[in-house]
Amino acid sequence: MTREVDLFVIGAGSGGVRAARIAAGHGASVMIAEEFRFGGTCVIRGCVPKKLLVLASRFADAFDEARSFGWQLDAPRFDWATLREAKEREISRLEGIYRRNLENARVEAVASRATLAGPDTVRIETTGEIIRAGRILIATGGTPFRPDIPGAELAVTSNEIFDLPALPASIVIEGGGFIAVEFGCLLARLGVKVCVVYRGTQIMRGFDDDLREHLASAMRAHGIEILTQTELKAIERKEDGYRVALSSGESRDTGLVMLATGRLPKTDGLGLEAAGVATGAKGAITVTPDSRTNVPTIWAVGDVTNRLALTPIAIREGHAFADTEFGGKPWTCDHHDVPAAVFSTPEIGTVGLTETHARERHGAIAIYRSTFRPMHNVLSDAPERMLMKLVVDVATDRVLGVHICGPDAAEMVQVAGIAIKMGATKAQFDATVALHPSAAEELVTMRTPVT
Ligand code: NDP
Repeated sequence: MTREVDLFVIGAGSGGVRAARIAAGHGASVMIAEEFRFGGTCVIRGCVPKKLLVLASRFADAFDEARSFGWQLDAPRFDWATLREAKEREISRLEGIYRRNLENARVEAVASRATLAGPDTVRIETTGEIIRAGRILIATGGTPFRPDIPGAELAVTSNEIFDLPALPASIVIEGGGFIAVEFGCLLARLGVKVCVVYRGTQIMRGFDDDLREHLASAMRAHGIEILTQTELKAIERKEDGYRVALSSGESRDTGLVMLATGRLPKTDGLGLEAAGVATGAKGAITVTPDSRTNVPTIWAVGDVTNRLALTPIAIREGHAFADTEFGGKPWTCDHHDVPAAVFSTPEIGTVGLTETHARERHGAIAIYRSTFRPMHNVLSDAPERMLMKLVVDVATDRVLGVHICGPDAAEMVQVAGIAIKMGATKAQFDATVALHPSAAEELVTMRTPVT
C-alpha cells in the first residue's frame, strides 16, 4: 500500500529543513529526503565551512599587525590538516543538530535520493518506495557550473576545495564572483599564490563600482594576481600540477585549478518532466512569488529557483511556504533590500541600490563617500583603507544604498539594513550620534556629497 503524507520535501538544505519543521509544527505529516548530507550547501560545503576558512586566513594579517602593537611572536606556522579536521568536526556537529531538530519536530527524515514520480507522488530511490503527498516541495539547491573546455574535469570546484588533502603552492581560479574572490583572498592568506582569471573588465559584476575597484586593488596589493578580460581555454595535467591555456594566448603552470564560474539549479534526473514542472533560464524551476510551480501540488524554494541564491532567502521562502500552506498564515518572502556580504578580505557588505542602479531608477541622487585607514592599521604599516558609501535620493532624502568594503563590513551592513528597510533618510542618519572611536561612525558623519 502506498504511504501518504501531507508534505514531502526533496532536499534537506536550509530551505527544505525550515519548511519541513514549520509545516510539521502546524500539524502536517512530513517526510524529507536528502541524498548527501543533512544541512545542504550552506552547512556542508558553503557558508559555514567557508567562514571558518576565512577566519583562519585572517590570523595571517593579525599576526603581522600584532607586532606593531608590541607583541613578540615566533614565526607562526599554518597546518591545513588541523583546520580541515576542525572544520569537519564542526559541520558534523551542525549536521547532527539539523537531524535532531527534524526528529524533534516529528519529521520523517530519509537518507536517500528522491525523485518526482508524478504530480503528487515521490519515489524514494534507495528502496523504490512510492509516497503519495498532498504537497511536494522541491528544495534541491544548486551545483557548481563547469564551462565546457578541454580538461574542465581536472579542476576542483567549491564542492571539493574544502577537503583537499593538502594546500597547493599555487592556484588559478576562474571567475570574478562571490566564490572566486572569497577563496582567492583566503587561500592567499593561507600561503597559496593566487591568480584569478576573470572574463569581464572588473570583478564582482552587479556590485557598486566603487566597491569593485576598491576590492580589486586591495586584492592586488595583497599579491593576488587578477587577469581581466581573460578566460581559461584548456586545462592539462602535468607531472607536478596543471597547465592552463588562457584566451590571451599565454599559458600558466599551477598547482591547482578551481572553477568558480557560477552555480546551476540542481534538477538533473529529478523527474520534473514526469510531473510536468516547468523550468526557465539555466534550468531553474519557474515559480510565482509565493513559490508555486505551474503544477498545483508542487512548490519550490531556494537556489533551485535561481531567485536570490542566499541561505537566509531560502529559509524565508521555505518558512513562508509552510506558514501559508499549513498554518493558515499567508505571507511571501520579500526579495528587496536584502543585505549581502562577500567574505573576501577586505570584506564587502552591501544593501540597497548601487550608484548605477539608483541613477537609472531615481534620477537625481547624491553620493557620500569616505575612505580611511581602519584603526588597527594605524600603528602598522598596512596601507589598506576602508571604503564607505551612501547613495541618497535627492528628491526624498531616502538612503537607497549602503556599501562598505573593509573589516566587519558584513556586521555593519546587517544593522544598516534595518534603517534601509525602514526607509531612513540621510537626515535621520545625520541625527544619529556617532559612536566613537569606531569605523561605523563614518556612516553617520559623512556630510558633504561627492556628487
Ligand atoms: P557568481 O555568479 O557570483 O560568479 C560567477 C562568476 O563566474 C562571474 O564572475 C561570471 O562572470 C563567471 N562566469 C560565469 N560563466 C562563465 C564562463 N562560462 N566562463 C568564464 N567565467 C564565467 O557565482 P559563484 O559561483 O561565485 O557563487 C554562486 C552563488 O552563490 C552566488 O551568486 C551567490 O548567490 C552565492 N554565494 C553567496 C556567498 C555569500 O553570501 N557570501 C558566498 C558564495 C556564494 P560574469 O560576471 O561575466 O557573469
